[in-house]
Amino acid sequence: MTLVADPTLTLLRDLVAIDSVNPSLVPGARGEAEVARRIAAELESIGLAVNITEVTPGRPNVVGTLRGNAPGRSLMLCGHIDTVGVAGMERPFDPVERDGRLYGRGAQDMKGGVAAMIGAARVIAESGGLARGQLIVAAVIDEEHASLGADALVATSRADAGVVTEPTDLDIAVAHKGFQWLEIETRGRAAHGSRPLEGRDAIMRMGRVLSALETLDRTLQSGRSHPLLGTASLHASTVQGGREWSSYPDRCVLQVERRTLPGESDTAALDEARTILGALRDGDPEFDAAASLTFGRQPYEIDAADPLPGLLSAAARGVGHESRHVGMTFWTDAAILGAAGIPSVLFGPGGAGLHSVEEYVRLRDVEICRDTLAALARDFTRS
Ligand SMILES: [Zn+2]
Repeated sequence: MTLVADPTLTLLRDLVAIDSVNPSLVPGARGEAEVARRIAAELESIGLAVNITEVTPGRPNVVGTLRGNAPGRSLMLCGHIDTVGVAGMERPFDPVERDGRLYGRGAQDMKGGVAAMIGAARVIAESGGLARGQLIVAAVIDEEHASLGADALVATSRADAGVVTEPTDLDIAVAHKGFQWLEIETRGRAAHGSRPLEGRDAIMRMGRVLSALETLDRTLQSGRSHPLLGTASLHASTVQGGREWSSYPDRCVLQVERRTLPGESDTAALDEARTILGALRDGDPEFDAAASLTFGRQPYEIDAADPLPGLLSAAARGVGHESRHVGMTFWTDAAILGAAGIPSVLFGPGGAGLHSVEEYVRLRDVEICRDTLAALARDFTRS
Protein backbone atom coordinates (compact mmCIF):
# COMPACT_ATOMS: atom_id res chain seq x y z
CA MET A 1 0.00 0.00 0.00
CA THR A 2 1.23 3.45 -0.79
CA LEU A 3 0.21 6.54 1.07
CA VAL A 4 0.89 8.93 -1.78
CA ALA A 5 -2.06 7.97 -3.95
CA ASP A 6 -4.82 8.40 -1.42
CA PRO A 7 -5.53 11.96 -0.20
CA THR A 8 -7.07 10.71 3.05
CA LEU A 9 -3.94 8.79 3.98
CA THR A 10 -1.68 11.63 2.84
CA LEU A 11 -3.64 13.96 5.11
CA LEU A 12 -3.41 11.48 7.98
CA ARG A 13 0.36 11.26 7.60
CA ASP A 14 0.62 15.07 7.56
CA LEU A 15 -1.59 15.43 10.64
CA VAL A 16 0.50 12.93 12.62
CA ALA A 17 3.69 14.72 11.52
CA ILE A 18 2.44 17.99 13.04
CA ASP A 19 2.93 18.36 16.78
CA SER A 20 -0.41 19.33 18.34
CA VAL A 21 0.18 18.40 21.96
CA ASN A 22 -2.34 20.12 24.21
CA PRO A 23 -0.61 23.02 26.02
CA SER A 24 -3.02 22.77 28.94
CA LEU A 25 -1.75 19.22 29.56
CA VAL A 26 1.91 19.92 28.83
CA PRO A 27 2.96 23.51 29.61
CA GLY A 28 4.70 25.11 26.63
CA ALA A 29 3.44 22.52 24.15
CA ARG A 30 2.73 23.64 20.58
CA GLY A 31 -1.05 23.41 20.61
CA GLU A 32 -3.41 23.14 17.66
CA ALA A 33 -2.57 26.20 15.48
CA GLU A 34 -0.41 24.46 12.87
CA VAL A 35 -2.57 21.36 12.54
CA ALA A 36 -5.62 23.65 12.23
CA ARG A 37 -3.92 25.45 9.31
CA ARG A 38 -3.28 22.14 7.54
CA ILE A 39 -6.91 21.10 8.05
CA ALA A 40 -8.28 24.46 6.88
CA ALA A 41 -6.18 24.19 3.71
CA GLU A 42 -7.46 20.66 3.09
CA LEU A 43 -11.10 21.67 3.58
CA GLU A 44 -10.67 24.65 1.26
CA SER A 45 -9.04 22.46 -1.40
CA ILE A 46 -12.11 20.20 -1.26
CA GLY A 47 -14.37 23.21 -1.75
CA LEU A 48 -15.91 23.59 1.70
CA ALA A 49 -16.76 26.97 3.21
CA VAL A 50 -14.23 27.23 6.04
CA ASN A 51 -14.62 29.06 9.31
CA ILE A 52 -11.65 29.41 11.67
CA THR A 53 -12.49 30.51 15.20
CA GLU A 54 -9.86 31.21 17.80
CA VAL A 55 -11.23 29.60 20.95
CA THR A 56 -8.36 30.78 23.13
CA PRO A 57 -5.30 32.69 21.85
CA GLY A 58 -3.45 30.61 19.25
CA ARG A 59 -5.83 27.66 19.51
CA PRO A 60 -8.47 27.66 16.75
CA ASN A 61 -11.40 25.40 15.88
CA VAL A 62 -11.81 24.79 12.15
CA VAL A 63 -15.30 24.18 10.77
CA GLY A 64 -15.97 23.36 7.12
CA THR A 65 -19.43 23.27 5.57
CA LEU A 66 -20.43 21.44 2.39
CA ARG A 67 -23.83 22.72 1.29
CA GLY A 68 -26.20 20.62 -0.78
CA ASN A 69 -28.15 21.86 -3.78
CA ALA A 70 -31.37 22.19 -1.78
CA PRO A 71 -32.30 22.73 1.86
CA GLY A 72 -32.39 19.66 4.07
CA ARG A 73 -31.02 18.06 7.20
CA SER A 74 -27.49 18.66 8.43
CA LEU A 75 -24.98 16.12 9.68
CA MET A 76 -22.00 17.16 11.78
CA LEU A 77 -18.77 15.14 11.86
CA CYS A 78 -16.58 16.17 14.79
CA GLY A 79 -13.08 15.29 15.90
CA HIS A 80 -10.48 16.77 18.22
CA ILE A 81 -7.10 17.84 16.88
CA ASP A 82 -5.10 18.03 20.12
CA THR A 83 -3.12 15.07 21.47
CA VAL A 84 -1.73 14.05 24.81
CA GLY A 85 2.01 14.44 25.50
CA VAL A 86 4.84 12.41 24.03
CA ALA A 87 7.03 11.52 27.03
CA GLY A 88 8.92 8.29 26.38
CA MET A 89 8.26 8.25 22.63
CA GLU A 90 11.28 8.10 20.33
CA ARG A 91 9.90 9.79 17.21
CA PRO A 92 6.31 10.78 18.00
CA PHE A 93 5.88 13.05 14.96
CA ASP A 94 7.61 10.82 12.43
CA PRO A 95 4.73 8.76 11.03
CA VAL A 96 5.85 5.22 10.22
CA GLU A 97 3.79 2.85 8.11
CA ARG A 98 4.13 -0.87 8.83
CA ASP A 99 1.82 -3.87 8.30
CA GLY A 100 -1.12 -1.70 7.29
CA ARG A 101 -0.74 0.50 10.35
CA LEU A 102 0.38 4.08 10.78
CA TYR A 103 2.38 4.71 13.96
CA GLY A 104 2.83 8.04 15.73
CA ARG A 105 1.38 10.26 18.43
CA GLY A 106 -2.29 10.95 17.73
CA ALA A 107 -2.53 8.34 14.94
CA GLN A 108 -5.40 6.61 16.73
CA ASP A 109 -6.50 9.38 19.12
CA MET A 110 -7.65 10.79 16.91
CA LYS A 111 -6.01 11.99 13.72
CA GLY A 112 -7.16 8.77 12.00
CA GLY A 113 -10.77 9.76 12.68
CA VAL A 114 -10.14 13.37 11.68
CA ALA A 115 -8.57 12.29 8.36
CA ALA A 116 -11.52 9.94 7.77
CA MET A 117 -14.17 12.61 8.34
CA ILE A 118 -12.39 15.09 6.08
CA GLY A 119 -11.90 12.29 3.54
CA ALA A 120 -15.66 11.68 3.62
CA ALA A 121 -16.28 15.30 2.65
CA ARG A 122 -13.80 14.90 -0.22
CA VAL A 123 -15.47 11.69 -1.46
CA ILE A 124 -18.84 13.48 -1.55
CA ALA A 125 -17.50 16.70 -3.10
CA GLU A 126 -15.67 14.78 -5.83
CA SER A 127 -18.74 12.74 -6.73
CA GLY A 128 -21.17 15.57 -7.35
CA GLY A 129 -21.80 16.93 -3.85
CA LEU A 130 -24.93 16.60 -1.74
CA ALA A 131 -28.38 16.74 -3.29
CA ARG A 132 -29.80 18.38 -0.16
CA GLY A 133 -28.91 19.46 3.34
CA GLN A 134 -25.38 20.02 4.53
CA LEU A 135 -22.34 18.26 5.90
CA ILE A 136 -20.43 20.07 8.65
CA VAL A 137 -16.88 18.97 9.38
CA ALA A 138 -15.67 20.28 12.75
CA ALA A 139 -12.07 19.99 13.97
CA VAL A 140 -11.98 21.09 17.60
CA ILE A 141 -9.28 21.85 20.15
CA ASP A 142 -8.64 20.76 23.72
CA GLU A 143 -10.64 17.53 24.08
CA GLU A 144 -7.79 15.98 26.05
CA HIS A 145 -8.10 18.64 28.73
CA ALA A 146 -11.29 20.67 29.13
CA SER A 147 -13.04 20.40 25.73
CA LEU A 148 -12.98 24.15 25.18
CA GLY A 149 -13.28 23.44 21.45
CA ALA A 150 -16.50 21.41 21.59
CA ASP A 151 -18.05 23.88 24.03
CA ALA A 152 -17.26 26.74 21.62
CA LEU A 153 -18.47 24.71 18.62
CA VAL A 154 -21.97 24.07 19.98
CA ALA A 155 -22.30 27.72 20.99
CA THR A 156 -22.39 28.67 17.30
CA SER A 157 -23.03 25.53 15.22
CA ARG A 158 -26.16 23.42 15.01
CA ALA A 159 -26.88 20.13 13.26
CA ASP A 160 -29.61 17.50 13.17
CA ALA A 161 -27.20 14.71 14.10
CA GLY A 162 -23.54 14.21 14.87
CA VAL A 163 -20.80 11.60 14.62
CA VAL A 164 -17.71 12.01 16.76
CA THR A 165 -14.93 10.05 15.08
CA GLU A 166 -13.05 8.95 18.21
CA PRO A 167 -11.50 5.48 17.86
CA THR A 168 -14.16 2.79 18.35
CA ASP A 169 -12.70 -0.09 16.29
CA LEU A 170 -15.41 0.72 13.72
CA ASP A 171 -18.15 -0.08 16.21
CA ILE A 172 -20.91 2.42 16.93
CA ALA A 173 -20.77 3.79 20.46
CA VAL A 174 -24.22 4.90 21.59
CA ALA A 175 -23.34 5.64 25.22
CA HIS A 176 -20.44 6.56 27.46
CA LYS A 177 -19.82 7.26 31.13
CA GLY A 178 -19.46 10.67 32.74
CA PHE A 179 -17.19 11.73 35.60
CA GLN A 180 -17.20 13.99 38.62
CA TRP A 181 -14.12 15.30 40.45
CA LEU A 182 -14.56 15.72 44.13
CA GLU A 183 -12.32 17.28 46.77
CA ILE A 184 -12.68 16.38 50.43
CA GLU A 185 -10.86 18.24 53.17
CA THR A 186 -10.59 16.99 56.73
CA ARG A 187 -9.51 19.46 59.37
CA GLY A 188 -7.67 18.81 62.62
CA ARG A 189 -5.61 20.90 65.01
CA ALA A 190 -1.84 21.32 64.72
CA ALA A 191 0.10 20.51 67.88
CA HIS A 192 3.45 19.19 69.03
CA GLY A 193 3.56 15.44 68.46
CA SER A 194 4.02 14.81 72.16
CA ARG A 195 0.72 16.47 73.09
CA PRO A 196 -2.20 14.20 72.19
CA LEU A 197 -4.64 16.18 74.29
CA GLU A 198 -4.03 19.26 72.13
CA GLY A 199 -3.59 17.73 68.68
CA ARG A 200 -6.37 16.61 66.35
CA ASP A 201 -5.14 14.41 63.49
CA ALA A 202 -6.62 15.43 60.13
CA ILE A 203 -4.97 12.50 58.31
CA MET A 204 -6.46 9.92 60.69
CA ARG A 205 -9.82 11.57 60.11
CA MET A 206 -9.32 11.18 56.37
CA GLY A 207 -8.73 7.48 57.04
CA ARG A 208 -12.33 7.22 58.19
CA VAL A 209 -13.48 8.98 55.02
CA LEU A 210 -11.39 6.66 52.83
CA SER A 211 -12.80 3.60 54.53
CA ALA A 212 -16.36 4.80 53.91
CA LEU A 213 -15.52 5.64 50.27
CA GLU A 214 -14.15 2.14 49.75
CA THR A 215 -17.41 0.71 51.04
CA LEU A 216 -19.35 3.06 48.75
CA ASP A 217 -17.29 1.94 45.76
CA ARG A 218 -18.07 -1.71 46.51
CA THR A 219 -21.76 -0.80 46.70
CA LEU A 220 -21.58 1.05 43.37
CA GLN A 221 -19.78 -1.83 41.68
CA SER A 222 -22.36 -4.34 42.89
CA GLY A 223 -25.26 -2.02 42.05
CA ARG A 224 -27.09 -1.03 38.88
CA SER A 225 -25.28 -2.13 35.76
CA HIS A 226 -25.84 -0.42 32.41
CA PRO A 227 -26.03 -3.03 29.62
CA LEU A 228 -23.23 -1.36 27.63
CA LEU A 229 -21.28 0.53 30.31
CA GLY A 230 -21.22 -1.67 33.40
CA THR A 231 -21.42 -0.03 36.81
CA ALA A 232 -20.54 3.31 38.31
CA SER A 233 -17.35 3.42 40.40
CA LEU A 234 -15.01 5.72 42.27
CA HIS A 235 -11.34 5.83 43.20
CA ALA A 236 -9.00 8.00 45.21
CA SER A 237 -6.83 10.13 42.91
CA THR A 238 -4.44 12.09 45.16
CA VAL A 239 -4.04 12.69 48.87
CA GLN A 240 -2.06 15.40 50.64
CA GLY A 241 -1.57 16.23 54.29
CA GLY A 242 0.87 16.76 57.11
CA ARG A 243 3.94 18.97 57.65
CA GLU A 244 6.59 16.96 59.46
CA TRP A 245 7.20 13.85 61.60
CA SER A 246 6.75 15.56 64.92
CA SER A 247 3.47 17.43 64.46
CA TYR A 248 -0.21 16.66 64.40
CA PRO A 249 -1.50 17.43 60.87
CA ASP A 250 -4.14 20.14 60.80
CA ARG A 251 -5.34 19.47 57.28
CA CYS A 252 -5.67 16.65 54.75
CA VAL A 253 -7.03 16.98 51.21
CA LEU A 254 -8.25 14.06 49.13
CA GLN A 255 -9.15 14.18 45.45
CA VAL A 256 -11.61 11.55 44.27
CA GLU A 257 -12.91 10.65 40.84
CA ARG A 258 -16.41 9.22 40.51
CA ARG A 259 -17.43 7.72 37.16
CA THR A 260 -21.14 8.09 36.44
CA LEU A 261 -23.81 6.30 34.42
CA PRO A 262 -26.56 7.86 32.30
CA GLY A 263 -29.40 8.87 34.61
CA GLU A 264 -27.21 9.83 37.57
CA SER A 265 -27.43 13.36 38.93
CA ASP A 266 -24.78 16.01 38.30
CA THR A 267 -24.14 16.10 42.04
CA ALA A 268 -24.14 12.33 42.75
CA ALA A 269 -20.58 12.33 44.09
CA LEU A 270 -21.12 15.41 46.25
CA ASP A 271 -24.39 14.05 47.68
CA GLU A 272 -22.68 10.76 48.57
CA ALA A 273 -19.70 12.51 50.15
CA ARG A 274 -21.94 14.73 52.25
CA THR A 275 -23.88 11.69 53.47
CA ILE A 276 -20.61 10.04 54.49
CA LEU A 277 -19.31 13.16 56.25
CA GLY A 278 -22.65 13.65 58.01
CA ALA A 279 -22.58 10.08 59.36
CA LEU A 280 -18.98 10.52 60.57
CA ARG A 281 -19.97 13.76 62.31
CA ASP A 282 -22.93 12.03 63.95
CA GLY A 283 -20.53 9.46 65.41
CA ASP A 284 -17.93 12.05 66.51
CA PRO A 285 -18.97 15.65 67.17
CA GLU A 286 -15.34 16.78 66.78
CA PHE A 287 -15.11 15.36 63.25
CA ASP A 288 -14.58 18.33 60.90
CA ALA A 289 -14.62 17.97 57.12
CA ALA A 290 -16.07 19.45 53.95
CA ALA A 291 -16.58 18.24 50.38
CA SER A 292 -16.81 20.17 47.12
CA LEU A 293 -17.23 19.30 43.46
CA THR A 294 -14.47 20.84 41.35
CA PHE A 295 -15.32 19.59 37.83
CA GLY A 296 -17.56 17.13 36.10
CA ARG A 297 -18.81 15.98 32.73
CA GLN A 298 -22.11 14.31 32.08
CA PRO A 299 -22.57 10.74 30.90
CA TYR A 300 -24.20 10.33 27.51
CA GLU A 301 -26.60 7.97 25.84
CA ILE A 302 -28.43 8.57 22.59
CA ASP A 303 -32.21 8.19 22.79
CA ALA A 304 -33.12 4.53 22.18
CA ALA A 305 -35.60 5.61 19.49
CA ASP A 306 -33.11 7.78 17.58
CA PRO A 307 -32.59 6.49 14.01
CA LEU A 308 -28.91 7.57 13.78
CA PRO A 309 -27.27 4.33 15.06
CA GLY A 310 -29.38 2.27 12.64
CA LEU A 311 -28.57 4.56 9.71
CA LEU A 312 -24.87 4.35 10.52
CA SER A 313 -25.02 0.54 10.79
CA ALA A 314 -26.65 0.40 7.38
CA ALA A 315 -24.04 2.73 5.91
CA ALA A 316 -21.24 0.54 7.30
CA ARG A 317 -22.92 -2.60 5.95
CA GLY A 318 -23.09 -0.90 2.57
CA VAL A 319 -19.30 -0.69 2.48
CA GLY A 320 -18.95 -4.28 3.71
CA HIS A 321 -18.50 -3.76 7.45
CA GLU A 322 -20.70 -5.04 10.29
CA SER A 323 -20.64 -2.67 13.27
CA ARG A 324 -21.82 -3.53 16.77
CA HIS A 325 -23.54 -1.02 19.04
CA VAL A 326 -21.29 -0.54 22.06
CA GLY A 327 -20.61 1.74 25.02
CA MET A 328 -17.32 3.51 25.80
CA THR A 329 -16.02 3.76 29.34
CA PHE A 330 -14.28 7.09 28.75
CA TRP A 331 -15.97 10.46 28.43
CA THR A 332 -16.12 12.14 25.01
CA ASP A 333 -17.23 15.31 23.25
CA ALA A 334 -20.38 13.41 22.15
CA ALA A 335 -21.87 14.39 25.52
CA ILE A 336 -21.39 18.07 24.68
CA LEU A 337 -23.02 17.67 21.26
CA GLY A 338 -25.85 15.61 22.78
CA ALA A 339 -26.50 18.14 25.53
CA ALA A 340 -26.65 20.87 22.88
CA GLY A 341 -29.45 19.04 21.09
CA ILE A 342 -27.34 17.26 18.46
CA PRO A 343 -28.05 13.51 18.85
CA SER A 344 -24.65 11.90 18.38
CA VAL A 345 -22.77 8.63 18.26
CA LEU A 346 -19.10 7.74 18.13
CA PHE A 347 -17.62 5.90 15.17
CA GLY A 348 -13.94 5.76 14.30
CA PRO A 349 -11.11 3.54 13.13
CA GLY A 350 -9.35 0.92 15.20
CA GLY A 351 -5.80 0.75 16.41
CA ALA A 352 -4.01 0.61 19.72
CA GLY A 353 -1.83 2.53 22.11
CA LEU A 354 -4.19 5.35 23.06
CA HIS A 355 -2.15 7.72 25.29
CA SER A 356 0.77 5.23 25.42
CA VAL A 357 4.27 5.22 23.90
CA GLU A 358 3.40 3.12 20.84
CA GLU A 359 0.24 4.36 19.16
CA TYR A 360 -1.09 3.29 15.77
CA VAL A 361 -4.22 3.37 13.63
CA ARG A 362 -5.22 0.75 11.05
CA LEU A 363 -5.15 2.33 7.59
CA ARG A 364 -7.85 0.03 6.21
CA ASP A 365 -10.11 1.13 9.09
CA VAL A 366 -9.53 4.77 8.21
CA GLU A 367 -10.74 4.05 4.67
CA ILE A 368 -13.79 2.08 5.87
CA CYS A 369 -14.61 4.86 8.31
CA ARG A 370 -14.34 7.50 5.57
CA ASP A 371 -16.52 5.56 3.13
CA THR A 372 -19.11 4.79 5.82
CA LEU A 373 -19.33 8.44 6.85
CA ALA A 374 -19.72 9.52 3.23
CA ALA A 375 -22.57 7.03 2.76
CA LEU A 376 -24.21 8.16 6.01
CA ALA A 377 -23.96 11.83 5.03
CA ARG A 378 -25.68 11.14 1.70
CA ASP A 379 -28.45 9.06 3.33
CA PHE A 380 -29.00 11.37 6.26
CA THR A 381 -29.17 14.61 4.30
CA ARG A 382 -31.39 13.10 1.58
CA SER A 383 -34.26 12.12 3.87
ZN1 LIG B 1 -9.69 11.27 21.78
